[in-house]
Parts: sequence; C-alpha cells; structure tokens
Amino acid sequence: MRLVRWVAGGVAASLFFVVAAFGTVQDSPLPMTTLQVEQLLSPQVEVLGSKSSGGFIQEERFERGDTFAALLDRLGVDDTEADRLLSDRKAVATLKALRPGTPVQARTNEEGALMSLWFLSGKDRVTSIDSVQDGFQPSDRPANLTRSVQMKSGQIRSSLFAATDDAGVPDSVAGQLADIFGGDVDFHRDLRRGDHFTVIYEMLMLDGRQVRSGRVLAAEFVNQNRVFRAIWFDGGDGKGGYFTPSGRNLRKAFLRSPLEFSRITSGFAMRFHPILQQWRAHQGIDYGAPTGTRVKATGDGIIDFVGRESGYGNMIIVRHNGSYSTRYGHLSAFAQGLRKGARVSQGDVIGFVGQTGMATGPHLHYEFRINNEYRNPLTLAFPTAESIATERMTAFRATTSPLAARLDLLRETNLALLE
Ligand SMILES: [Zn+2]
Repeated sequence: MRLVRWVAGGVAASLFFVVAAFGTVQDSPLPMTTLQVEQLLSPQVEVLGSKSSGGFIQEERFERGDTFAALLDRLGVDDTEADRLLSDRKAVATLKALRPGTPVQARTNEEGALMSLWFLSGKDRVTSIDSVQDGFQPSDRPANLTRSVQMKSGQIRSSLFAATDDAGVPDSVAGQLADIFGGDVDFHRDLRRGDHFTVIYEMLMLDGRQVRSGRVLAAEFVNQNRVFRAIWFDGGDGKGGYFTPSGRNLRKAFLRSPLEFSRITSGFAMRFHPILQQWRAHQGIDYGAPTGTRVKATGDGIIDFVGRESGYGNMIIVRHNGSYSTRYGHLSAFAQGLRKGARVSQGDVIGFVGQTGMATGPHLHYEFRINNEYRNPLTLAFPTAESIATERMTAFRATTSPLAARLDLLRETNLALLE
C-alpha cells in the first residue's frame, strides 16, 4: 500500500536547532543563518530579480526545441515588448544561457510590458533581465537559497527508484541512501518487496520552489526485517559521517556491492540471467549491469593485478588489510592510470563493467577472498569504522536525539499505516 508522504511544515519547528547546527559544517556550501531558518518555518515567497513590486508573476519552463519568442508569449509578455527584448543584443546573449528544463519567471504589468525576467543559472546563481529606461539590463548574482527539511517514507515494491519516485524523493537522495547503508545492504541484490524506508533530508529552495536536494540528515532502512538507522553527525572536526542512534559508525571495512548504484543498474539487475557460469566452479557474485557502469573498490587496499586473465577477461585484484582480497572481472576498461601497487580507497572507481572473458552479457564478476579462499561477502560480518568516542557522546546525543526521535515517530506512523 501507498505510504503517506511527509513534508516539512508542522514538524519543522522541532527540527529548528538541529538544522541550524548542521548549517555550520565545513563543506556546507551555504552557511545557514537564523533568518533563513525562520524563512523556512514560515515560507514566504520572496521574489528575486526585481526591485520593484506589483505586476503579475508567471513561471514557464524553457523546453528543448523552444524559442525565446514562444517562451515570452507563454510568460504573458506582449508581442511588441517581446520584439523589443529580442532585438536587444545583451538580453539575447543572456537568454542564450538558458538550458532546456529551466523554469523562467517573469513579472509583467497589466499591459504585458516586461518588468523583469529571471532564472536560476549555473550553480545557485540567479540571472535576471530588468527593464530599464533605455532598454534591458542583464545581471547575475548569487541566489538566496533557503534550506528546508523534508521527511518522506516509502515501501519497496519493485525497485528502490520506483519507491523513491512514488514518495517524491529525488534521485540524489536515493543514491545517498544506497551509499549510507552500503556497508550493510547490497542494494543490487538484497532488496525485497516490503522493505521500507524513512528519510529526512535537506532541500534547497528558491522562491518557495525546490531547487536541489542537500544532505540526508537521518534515515531508516528496513531490509528483510533488519532495521538499519543512520544519523549524520559532524563533531566539528570536519569529518562528518553516519552513525546509529547509539553512536556506532555505519562505515564498514567493505561495501556490500562493488557496483555504483543508479536508476539504470537498479533495473538492469532484475533482467540479468547468467547462463554460462560453468567457466570455473563459479565462485563469485555476478552483477548484471550495462557496459560502462562504474565499478568501485569495496575496501581500502593496494592494486595487486590489472590485466587480462583467461575467463575473467579484464580483471583487477585488490589486496586489502590482512588476508582479504577482492577480484573484479569481465571489465570493459580500467580506470585511467590504474597500476599494480597503486593505493585505492573504498569507493574509488577502478574500472567499468563489460563482457570480456567468458561472459554472455555485460556483467561484473565479483569475488571476495580470505586467505585466497572464496567467501560469500553477502553473509560475512565486516569490521566497522570507529564509533563515537565516549567523551563526544554528550555532544553526539544532544545533536542527534531530535532526529532519532523524529525517526521513531515516523516509524510508528508507518507501522500504523501498514497494518
Ligand atoms: Zn561470475
């Protein structure tokens, strides 16, 4: 059944100081001020791009194959006014920066004369064209983005992306979910119908519209009745990460899946049926994926082999700490400059899916070995990265407990709805 969607609004107030705290993290591109948080609590549509007020504001998307004249017409700009704008060299040069799919807003007066036109350009900048005495004046400035907190829940019926689409969760957030829980769940193989999630994440807004999603602040993923919870915490050392509500680090020594998780790979896995696995007593996991899909080192290590190896085709072996090693076969290509002896970190792209060697279709053959003996990585418990130190627990709890409480509440609501 369909789950209810939660949007920040009534619940935003209790998250107030949590959001404010996260706004100070070092890699945050937009330090958030109290003012901005207040704006998100009482979302007032602030109009950018025009100093004067009054008139009508309309929004239209610039479509692929669109013309500026057609766009201006849809925006309610009078024909002669449109002609005047389109004969202005500077204005036209500015409009040429428009990419298909970009929403454009215009303010016109009662007669259809253009007062101002603006759109989001580049990364978080607003470009505008203002009507001035003797023509039009283009300008460009940083967009005053505000941050809101979104809460969504969903249930897996076919794929993660189908579920996140249903719940209105952006792809980048779905990708973050796969990364956050990537040490516990292999999103290519472990997902089951009935798995469900709750996610709390930042959304950056401009003029009351969603511009792009930000960081996942907290999430719960229930996979085959196992409950995984994650809360973002940055103790101020700039190296934030995801932890369980009790302070255990979610990062593991190995990722469950070596494949980059995407909308394409999530659907592809379902259609892949390996036929010829007899090329050696099959000791590995096959991941069906389109040729060119990125393959990641599942753990930190050193490249032990890069090259061709009979049935494996193009293969990489990574030697990890102690007695662990991983193998990646049938690759179409290796990452540029990858050499024996090179050091790699978990998540580094080392190659690309292909069908070299004994392969009937594009797929990745992945092996996990301990003391050079094959082990099933899907059933192994991996060592975990450092937990929150005892002396930081107070700060950790103070910052994360409101989010943990929010997850609890959402979960109870979910369970009630599922019954
Ligand atoms: Zn295989």
